[in-house]
Amino acid sequence: MENRNFYNEILTEHNMHPDFKHDIEDADIVLDGINPSCGDEIQLKLKTDGDIITDGAFVGDGCAISQASTDGMLTCHTIFELEYADIFMRMIRGEASDEEIDSLEEASALRDISHMPARVKCAMLGWRTLSEALKGK
Ligand code: ZN
Repeated sequence: MENRNFYNEILTEHNMHPDFKHDIEDADIVLDGINPSCGDEIQLKLKTDGDIITDGAFVGDGCAISQASTDGMLTCHTIFELEYADIFMRMIRGEASDEEIDSLEEASALRDISHMPARVKCAMLGWRTLSEALKGK
């Protein structure tokens, strides 16, 4: 199944070569995200200029899905908007339309997670943390 391969490819790629897994020493927003049911931990770091998020990265440890999902989330700048975090979380719950899912670009590869209830919290970790960070801004 093409979808399934795409999903695995994205997961593998983001785990082996995470683009955004590094520290930002002068981050303006630092927020911890924890998923106790799997043992995933991330620390999301964002730099802001007024209302605009100019840079984002994370550090942490956890399973492949939690780390790849967070890295994938940070790949796309347009995703640094609350709207996209909401769409992603609805996609994972199986409630988003195809059009909305397409707007998530690479992150849409995780749509099949909605059929793996045990992994949902892993996939949501980065997004839930981003959403909290944006709401608190
Ligand atoms: Zn996990």
